Amino acid sequence: MGIRAGSVGLRTVAAAAAMLMHVWTGGTALAGGTASATKASLSGDQYRTTFQLDLTTGVTAEIYTLANPYRVIVDLPDVEFELPDGTGQDGRGLVRTFRYGLFAERKARVVLDTTGPVRIERAAMTATPDGKGIVFAFDMVTTDPASFGLGTGADKATEGADAKPPPEKPPSDPAQPRRTGKAVVMIDPGHGGIDGGAVSASNLLEKDVVLAVGKELGRQLAATGRYDVRMTRASDVFVSLDQRLSLSAKHEVDLFISLHADSLAEEHGARVVRGATIYTLSERASDEQARRMAEKENASDLVAGINVVDGEGDDEVKSILFDLMKRETANFSADFSNALVRKMKGATPLAREPQRAAAFKVLKQSHAPSVLVELGYLSNPEDEKLLNSPAWRKKIAGTITAAVDTYFAKRTAGSPGP
Ligand code: ZN
Repeated sequence: MGIRAGSVGLRTVAAAAAMLMHVWTGGTALAGGTASATKASLSGDQYRTTFQLDLTTGVTAEIYTLANPYRVIVDLPDVEFELPDGTGQDGRGLVRTFRYGLFAERKARVVLDTTGPVRIERAAMTATPDGKGIVFAFDMVTTDPASFGLGTGADKATEGADAKPPPEKPPSDPAQPRRTGKAVVMIDPGHGGIDGGAVSASNLLEKDVVLAVGKELGRQLAATGRYDVRMTRASDVFVSLDQRLSLSAKHEVDLFISLHADSLAEEHGARVVRGATIYTLSERASDEQARRMAEKENASDLVAGINVVDGEGDDEVKSILFDLMKRETANFSADFSNALVRKMKGATPLAREPQRAAAFKVLKQSHAPSVLVELGYLSNPEDEKLLNSPAWRKKIAGTITAAVDTYFAKRTAGSPGP
């Protein structure tokens, strides 16, 4: 079959303190074609837990651990995940949950959330007895936080290897910045790849809903002939929040629309709360729900296993761009939010307070008016039906297109032009 399992070695590297990474590298010869993962499972107990991934062909894997919070990251090349819905939602032993997906183009990743600091042991990639597949497996064993941090400073050359966005460009990133005289509208479907976002009771994923709506919105905006449409992602790939921000800056966009869908826990009214909400950037959250929402969306990079450096997160969001952000940009964001609410009213249910504000990292844009639309709640059965409906997706894209028209018509009318 040409499948060979390779050796697996351990390399210890250190990024910043408390972010030590243990890197295992297992090299194998490829039998040709893309590897598929057909099964992922956990076994063992709270002292030793084994993660196993069944693959159609061997690949090179890198395993490392991260703290704050404790996670195990497995980086793989182009692997297609053909795993049943819900895989990874139930933990076992030292693993609370795990998730998987594309982290960048031709780069797949598995992130396991562990109950505490763990050490990796017995990582191996071996051919199955029938020679038709590969079993990739490793053990996680408990370790204390002090041992977890040992070795800091071992290999500074790899520092931050995971803190930076990967060099791969998102597939939708056009080579050239703006070329036409048309207004540039950037559509930003949230999450993607390894980061599924919110999930409904029937396993409908936020990343899929917002990509479908985003593509439909892109089609409708382009069809008007008035806009130059850009997307931060056009496929099921992870794009970090920093990458989204730099794409927006690079393309000098005139309007940035981030699309999301929320989900609430049972104690916050999962089944009763529904409707769309439009968020704009504010240092101070308009209310507790908005604050929680921003916290959740800002955690996207953590979910994807990016080593978020100190200072990242809430504090940074509060301190950096607010000084630079022009009041004008904030006013234009509010204008667009108003236009959206007016158009969406009647077309789709709106939340009781449909316009809110909080410190969303992806809205930290000094150059472009930006809003984040939570299309509805995946935790609410009626909203879930809408979010899953192609007809509703067309309709909501239509209302957002109408709001974009209103917004730019007003801006053109209100300014003497270039
Ligand atoms: Zn989201």
